[in-house]
Amino acid sequence: MKAILTMGILLGLLMPFASVEVAAQREIADFDAEKEAKNIEICTQNLIAIGRSIQTYEKENGDFPEWLSDLHHPKYLPDPDILICPSDKNGGKAIMFRSVDPNMPVSYGYQFHPEYRGDRIADRRLIYGDVVPLVRCRHHANREFHCLNLSFSYKITISISFWELQPEQLYETEREAIAALEIGLQRQPDNASLSCYVYPALARLYIKTGRDGDVDSLIDQFKSVMDPDDDRDYFALADMLEMMARNEEVLQTFKECEEKNPKDLGVLEKLAEIFQKLGNTDKAKEYQRKAAPVFPIVGQSVPDFTATDLDGNPISLQEYRGKVVLLDFWAVWCGPCIAEMPNVKRVYENYKDKGFDVIGISLDTDENRLRNYLKENAIAWRQVFSGKGWQSPVSQQYSIRGIPAPWLLARDGTPISHRARGRALEALVAEAVKDRSTH
Ligand SMILES: [Zn+2]
Repeated sequence: MKAILTMGILLGLLMPFASVEVAAQREIADFDAEKEAKNIEICTQNLIAIGRSIQTYEKENGDFPEWLSDLHHPKYLPDPDILICPSDKNGGKAIMFRSVDPNMPVSYGYQFHPEYRGDRIADRRLIYGDVVPLVRCRHHANREFHCLNLSFSYKITISISFWELQPEQLYETEREAIAALEIGLQRQPDNASLSCYVYPALARLYIKTGRDGDVDSLIDQFKSVMDPDDDRDYFALADMLEMMARNEEVLQTFKECEEKNPKDLGVLEKLAEIFQKLGNTDKAKEYQRKAAPVFPIVGQSVPDFTATDLDGNPISLQEYRGKVVLLDFWAVWCGPCIAEMPNVKRVYENYKDKGFDVIGISLDTDENRLRNYLKENAIAWRQVFSGKGWQSPVSQQYSIRGIPAPWLLARDGTPISHRARGRALEALVAEAVKDRSTH
């Protein structure tokens, strides 16, 4: 689906997936704030030096370098170490694969290499001006910012990774950001590839600076230029309407989307959310169910398994037949799994006497950490633990590639959903325990 550009979904993408989470945990463990502050200072100096040498290069060659490694010459960069960020733990390699310099080591992501040179950067410079990042360092990613940037105007800025969502980070003030975006829109009023970022960002800035009244006219303007065939534009419109609490219109917008793409899970999730907001719980539940897709092998049985639980007792899926079961593939190191745990606990408490049970399949490797977590959080259901992480036999049997992977199974052992989490979990369980046909 194309609708990946709204704030909510974007944050979803930024949410750590399991492996990223492991790296983050490790980084927290050996994080040294003082050293990192020093590194940021050195990195800033590196970026300033890179900016200077790009200017020299440009003057001499009449164009920007193709890659930063072209600066590897004493007349541009006296010290090649300037292309290495002291926080780089990636072996002298930029983090985004497209920006990896063909002649490593170069820690910095160059945004003006041959592949990005065309419309991608040209369009952005037309709208945002020369605050657009030219060179970026992502090796310091932390809570406050994701990137240290050198802009086309050779200024150093910090920003989130996807800076178009918060362009004000690149301008001195919000007022300047607003002025720049307004001029940018006048220049390219119907640049489809950019308008869907610019309008919501501008709307948010208007609200932030107390100019709510300007948002309504901005929405009207957007409606006149939006592409009715592009999901992203619908999400952008809905974003703005939501900012103004025009919820009925948000509903209308997503209903139109649904008509065009009835199976788009992002749209169905938004519809569930908006029905909930409008107080229509039945409709909200209906859409939660639609948004939690049915696994393609519905109607067939999932693999049975026999294993040993954390107390050393044999456990098999077979012995749970007749119950609605949540087979929860998870781990203590998985942030989204832990975030979901209170919800699983609540549903477990509410439905355990109605024929619902949970089996945790832990992908942890650290048994003590797992035991401590279960104890501290009073998790009552049984856990399958092999200590083999991703190689755990049960997760191999189920081809688990990412967690959380909450598989909900009906009383007869057939799968209902492999995404049973959040608000959808309770709705699905409530429905499934009612079904006694196979019991
Ligand atoms: Zn750096």
